[in-house]
Amino acid sequence: MQAQAQEAVRWRLDIVNASFMTGIPILTAIGLVWYTMNHGFSSVELGIFVFMYVACGLSITAGYHRLFSHRTHKSAWPLRLFYALFGAGAFQNSVIKWCSNHRRHHLVTDTDDDPYSVMKGFFWAHIGWILIADEERVEKVEDLEADPILVFQDRHVFVLGFLVGMVLPGVAGWFLLGGVTGFLGGFIWGGLLRIVIVHHATFLINSAAHTWGTQPYSTANTSRDSPFLSLFTYGEGYHNFHHTFQADYRNGHKWYHWDPSKWWIRGFSFIKMTSDLHKIPDKTIESRKMKTAFETSKKLSNSEIKENVQSLIDRLRKGYTDLDTHRKALKAAKKNKDGVSSQKMKSLCNEIKKEIKAAKQAIAQIRVEFQQWMDGLPSMA
Ligand SMILES: [Zn+2]
Ligand SMILES: [Zn+2]
Repeated sequence: MQAQAQEAVRWRLDIVNASFMTGIPILTAIGLVWYTMNHGFSSVELGIFVFMYVACGLSITAGYHRLFSHRTHKSAWPLRLFYALFGAGAFQNSVIKWCSNHRRHHLVTDTDDDPYSVMKGFFWAHIGWILIADEERVEKVEDLEADPILVFQDRHVFVLGFLVGMVLPGVAGWFLLGGVTGFLGGFIWGGLLRIVIVHHATFLINSAAHTWGTQPYSTANTSRDSPFLSLFTYGEGYHNFHHTFQADYRNGHKWYHWDPSKWWIRGFSFIKMTSDLHKIPDKTIESRKMKTAFETSKKLSNSEIKENVQSLIDRLRKGYTDLDTHRKALKAAKKNKDGVSSQKMKSLCNEIKKEIKAAKQAIAQIRVEFQQWMDGLPSMA
């Protein structure tokens, strides 16, 4: 009887959250239909929507997630303030509360203590955990509590969210479209509709990116890489990479991976607004990838085979170390121009470039060997 009572308390519906999460989409649908029928829509409404979508979305991915939760880089106060204001406008609670949940998610992924564990079902991971007043499980966030901007945001998050996330797009509509109708246009497009879309884009990372996609870097948890999800989540779809290398400011680590959050963070480093951008070395990433490919496809326990794969990984790491050394030497040679004739300099640089090319070829060769070797193994999966 007592256990039942406890259970009932534990699974209580969070009235405020549940009303907001269901009320806003309903209001959005009604508002959009009414507004479009009476006033149509133009590029201005769309422009307000896009601005708010980018500002609030990036505040969650680059700010709440990569800067505040994972400390993958440092950021100047104007950017932190921007994240605090537009992140509040995303209506995903304060930085302090969001990061506390998120750090816990990484620490105990897929367990009962994970606030949005996909093991409790897709719906739970997506939105269920917000609707239900679950037992609070907090992670330490003392580093964030030392930032006055974040303490202020935590204290006034709903007022700030209302002003930045709802009133601001309305005011923009008032000026750009004119009067009360314009205010409603900005409010419906840049406020309501944008809140719903940013919400569910973020939630998909907890649900879909733990359900569908590939696991190139680790199979230790349910996280998956989904380039498709990255298209509308500012690069957060590379979630298997992120769970494996959470200290990296990138989620899509290759230059061609669609990851606007990493471009945003890197872009601000050129004007010194961000610094200490942490990157996991390529050799660590690729050797991890080889190991995972080996473990998942063959699952062999023969120690000789394991040694073989280890020796390939060691050669790969050496290849990357050589590449790094030569690249540094080239940089140093180019810097150190004093007293060296341009002819001599040119030949020295050419020599180093040859070494770089050789190191790249060696890495490519190891990749081919690894693939051939894997293909030749008997499948025991
Ligand atoms: Zn994370
Ligand atoms: Zn995750």
